[in-house]
Amino acid sequence: MPNAEYLYRCMAVKQKIVSDILTPRKDFPVNTDNLIAAVEQWGRERKIIPNSTPMAQLLKTMSELGELADATLKADSQGIVDGVGDVVVTLILYCKLSGITLPLCLAAAYDQIKDRRGVLTKEGVFVKEESDGL
Ligand SMILES: [Mg+2]
Repeated sequence: MPNAEYLYRCMAVKQKIVSDILTPRKDFPVNTDNLIAAVEQWGRERKIIPNSTPMAQLLKTMSELGELADATLKADSQGIVDGVGDVVVTLILYCKLSGITLPLCLAAAYDQIKDRRGVLTKEGVFVKEESDGL
C-alpha cells in the first residue's frame, strides 16, 4: 500500500511532466491521438515499423513491464512514469505491427467491463455481482 509521501512524490512528478508537456511547443503533440501518431512515426523512422514483429514488441513490452515492476518495488516515482510510458510505447508499436490500434483495443476492453458492478474490498478480494457474469 503506497504511503502518503510516495503518493505526494508521484503527484509532484506527474504535475511536472504534465506542465512540461502542456507548455505549448510546436514540435510536441499534446493529446493522446497525436502522441500515438508521433510514436508510430518515430517507429517508422527507426524502421521498427515494418522491420520488427508483434512477438519482438511483445517481448519488449515484457522487458519494460519488468522495469516498471522494479520501479514500483523501489517506489521510484520517476521510474514508474518512465516504465508506464515505455510499456505503452511498445504496445502502440505492437498494435501497429498487428494491424490494430491501441484505442481500438482500449475501447474493446472498456466495452467488456463497463457494465460490471463488482467491487474490490479493502482485503483485496474482488466481489462480483450476479449480473457481472463469468
Ligand atoms: Mg524502459
